[in-house]
Amino acid sequence: MSHIVSIDEIENSEEKTVYYDFEDNIDGVDSVGPICAELTIKSLGEFIEVSGNVKGILKLNCDLCLKEFEYNLNFDIDEVFAKHALLEEYGQETEIKEGQFITDLNGSDTIDIYDLLYQSVILNLPNKKVCGINCNGDNFLKEEELSDPRMDVFKNIQIQPKD
Ligand SMILES: [Zn+2]
Repeated sequence: MSHIVSIDEIENSEEKTVYYDFEDNIDGVDSVGPICAELTIKSLGEFIEVSGNVKGILKLNCDLCLKEFEYNLNFDIDEVFAKHALLEEYGQETEIKEGQFITDLNGSDTIDIYDLLYQSVILNLPNKKVCGINCNGDNFLKEEELSDPRMDVFKNIQIQPKD
């Protein structure tokens, strides 16, 4: 299913703003029910700003015990698209403030909301996926050990607790 908003539609809307409610499954994102987003898409002249909130329940696998668990995804989105090509030196994505990038539309007259949400969800996945405080795998690995790549080998083997 496509979720495309045209630049013309935004420009011709009241206050040059389109309110877009997204509720759909996203290919490559394993979720319980749809991913929901309430987005405000506003023309700032040369730029289009997409902001709002994204929610969903994801099925993730625990890094410690490898069991599947449900993860409540809930984050805010604030993306700026440039209608026309930015100066070459800036490249495809330009960071305008911490965590906020301008994405070049390369002259495209539409914004692909589906693709934007897919990329945003992937970026907002937790670095460490842990099923919960009662995780069985949590007994033998501490937080800092997890971030040590040399400890990666222990993630996949069972260690018996000492008596
Ligand atoms: Zn676990």
